[in-house]
Amino acid sequence: MTYKIAVLPGDGIGSEITEQAQRVLGALGLDLEMTTAPVGGTAYDLHGHPLPPSTLELAQSSNAILFGAVGDWKYDSLARELRPEQAILGLRKALGLFANFRPAILYPQLANASSLKPEIVSGLDILIVRELTGDIYFGQPRGSRIAEDGPFKGERQGFDTMHYAETEVRRIARVAFQAAQKRQKRLCSVDKANVLETSQFWRDIVISVAAEYPDVELSHMYVDNAAMQLVRAPKEFDVIVTGNLFGDILSDEAAMLTGSIGMLPSASLNASNQGLYEPSHGSAPDIAGKNMANPLATILSAAMLLRYSLNEEAQACRVEAAVQAVLEKGLRTADIFEEGSTKVSTSEMGDAVLKALE
Ligand code: NAD
Repeated sequence: MTYKIAVLPGDGIGSEITEQAQRVLGALGLDLEMTTAPVGGTAYDLHGHPLPPSTLELAQSSNAILFGAVGDWKYDSLARELRPEQAILGLRKALGLFANFRPAILYPQLANASSLKPEIVSGLDILIVRELTGDIYFGQPRGSRIAEDGPFKGERQGFDTMHYAETEVRRIARVAFQAAQKRQKRLCSVDKANVLETSQFWRDIVISVAAEYPDVELSHMYVDNAAMQLVRAPKEFDVIVTGNLFGDILSDEAAMLTGSIGMLPSASLNASNQGLYEPSHGSAPDIAGKNMANPLATILSAAMLLRYSLNEEAQACRVEAAVQAVLEKGLRTADIFEEGSTKVSTSEMGDAVLKALE
């Protein structure tokens, strides 16, 4: 079977890092059809829009999207709907990418990069599943108005609306239970059910979905406690599932436990496992074009692409093992360099991963 992959490098370091991930995918012996298209600021420069129709059509007709990064300060003065970041929002919406997977893995070789003590984080391997298309970020109505009652009646106030439909909670809960089944079979649902009605509803639905997955141990935690436990004893977690707002904050917190933004992959999936795979970092305009960006987050995103969209688990493990082997050899790009290791460029890191695949 031929798998179709849309490669959208984007801006800044995007083309340098996706190139290395493409080389890795191309070396696996799979039947892959990889097609590149512009996105973000690059697409705006070429076509006047960050997500041109031709790029969107390519993405929609592909099994998966390998995405670099978008954004540059030179686009900051553009109208909001023309900014590079709108391309990601547009793709999420058009493809219905409601489930965001953010693993936080700390390779033992990089334990010193974390701001936490090595014994607390070394060997960390957790997965945060964040709902991506609902919650207070998209709830209507929203805006500003004159308060009609309460202690500040008659004053201007800003407001948003938090809500989750049953279908939205069920589908993200199922995705998270299934992810837990492939790991240590422990799922922690994070909410604020002691204060928010939406959270109590979320919790009730997650509990009802749990009946479909008796092999997975379900627990619940309030978001403030989860934020604390993530820095106190992060290895206690296996999979965390949470809504859009809490997930936004917790996934960044968990990511930072690993100490290196250049190492963190991510995936956003829809109900048919079509997905967008991208590093968690941005386009790093400060180092673009210098062949010094770390391509490993993008290569690890390609491994997630193999696992979740192409169902090629063995190949995903092969790529992840190659990354481990390269770290074991002491090769480091500038962002993860430490005394005693060997500094390599973006393309040399790609070469090393390819060699380790052999
Ligand atoms: P950034 O993640 O691009 O960079 C933050 C710092 O980390 C910089 O010093 C950068 O050099 C470094 N860095 C990032 N990725 C690296 C890598 N692979 N290897 C080595 N070092 C790396 O965040 P920023 O500077 O706040 O934002 C720059 C642009 O990226 C902005 O336009 C922002 O809007 C955009 N952005 C895009 C995405 C995305 O495409 N998903 C995400 C975040 C930010």
